[in-house]
Amino acid sequence: EDDAALLAALSEDGFVEDDDEIPPVVAIIGRPNVGKSTLVNRIIGRREAVVEDVPGVTRDRVSYQAEWEGRPFTLVDTGGWEHDAKGIHARVAEQAEIAADLADAVIFVVDAMVGATATDESVVKMLRRIQKPVFLVANKIDDFNQEAEAHALWSLGFGQPYPVSALHGRGTADLLDDLLKKLPEHSAHGGLVPRGGPRRVALIGRPNVGKSSLLNKLAGSERVVVDNFAGTTRDPVDELVELGGRTWRFVDTAGIRRRQHMAHGSDYYASLRTQSALDKAEVAVVLLAVDEVLSEQDVRILQMTIDSGRALVLAFNKWDTLDDERRYYLEREIERDLAHVHWAPRVNLSAKTGWHKDKLVPALSTALESWDTRIPTGKLNAFLGELVAAHPHPVRGGKQPRILFATQASSRPPRFVLFTTGFLDQGYRRFITRRLRETFGFAGTPIEIGMRVRE
Ligand code: GDP
Ligand code: GDP
Repeated sequence: EDDAALLAALSEDGFVEDDDEIPPVVAIIGRPNVGKSTLVNRIIGRREAVVEDVPGVTRDRVSYQAEWEGRPFTLVDTGGWEHDAKGIHARVAEQAEIAADLADAVIFVVDAMVGATATDESVVKMLRRIQKPVFLVANKIDDFNQEAEAHALWSLGFGQPYPVSALHGRGTADLLDDLLKKLPEHSAHGGLVPRGGPRRVALIGRPNVGKSSLLNKLAGSERVVVDNFAGTTRDPVDELVELGGRTWRFVDTAGIRRRQHMAHGSDYYASLRTQSALDKAEVAVVLLAVDEVLSEQDVRILQMTIDSGRALVLAFNKWDTLDDERRYYLEREIERDLAHVHWAPRVNLSAKTGWHKDKLVPALSTALESWDTRIPTGKLNAFLGELVAAHPHPVRGGKQPRILFATQASSRPPRFVLFTTGFLDQGYRRFITRRLRETFGFAGTPIEIGMRVRE
């Protein structure tokens, strides 16, 4: 069939992704100032992400798409901590935990000019436990004469250290060659959302919005704790909860509880945890607390969720505190900050009293159903044919791009590819997105539209 042939051709181009094929994840860990960010910049080949020498600067980027010899992988820079000496052991523990959550391999960076410190030794202990391939980088070996310094790091027990100069690029090619040999084709942990089994839900939101209260209210005494990471010594992180006649898997619940005790934890780590929970989930409930003004952090977390491509439900918690005045302002805030997620189902609830907690399951089900949707190619093209006939693309510079054909390349979330004779305006793509939503629903799922321009 034509469609099948076309799809085959597309897959060869790497255009149609299998839903489960998420690139493997590499975490870069190590003490402050050993050169982690410099190494990240070196690997992703970008200069723009400036390395800050200023103590206390929080870096807001978490992960980067990288590629070596044509193979994509995701780099997670755990370097965004504050440079305070006091909490350093706790922070190292956090890094290792993140590595355990997210990574398929770890690059452990040590400053060869300083040598192994007590903190480095404690990183080693953590890394032994998480049992992932570790690549020990002896950094700041700017020239051959310094290579002897690298050998001293054999003592850390990860074999031959890779002598590297992140600053000048020395040694990074050998490192990456070996790294790729040990990396799986696809992410085995964080990035991969297994199919089948109970649907996976992440409760997401800034500290104190009520995530643990909600989990407690939903789970009651019915909770079953399951260990997500066989073969590691981590805390159990997922809980199975019966709701609305179905079993749901609430992911990363250890993280939810831990956050309670870590109100002081940096924004940066909060966002790494959010990322890790999102990676494991199929649907995210983003909690917002109505007793406070929607904050920048709320909006940022929501954006992370949208970008993650997961199904989304918005939960307005602490509804029991709402009075008329606050309600008035809340509506304005929603208009201002949440207009772009008009497509997400909203549930107003109170984790404290349990009011409306039964509204969550229908919203989750709707969002997941949309997330899973596949529109048959024939139906999609019939829809687009009518749409384009009634509303052709505006003429630009004497040319009028046409849509020749469209297909849904994947679901979870739905991704569409349009074959066109020219580049479609962003406005026109938004128009198509809107009409797709009006026609096919998609409540609670982001949708993506890609383009293929045929000259
Ligand atoms: P991070 O805190 O581990 O992310 O470390 P940074 O990447 O911010 O680097 C800390 C400092 O070490 C910066 O001043 C870098 O320019 C410097 N640095 C990083 N890599 C190298 C290297 O290979 N050689 C030298 N000489 N300096 C480096
Ligand atoms: P988390 O940090 O997101 O897990 O938030 P918690 O569940 O620890 O809740 C933070 C605070 O908000 C606690 O004092 C809760 O008792 C309170 N809280 C949570 N949900 C509600 C709610 O629906 N109404 C009211 N009034 N307070 C709530």
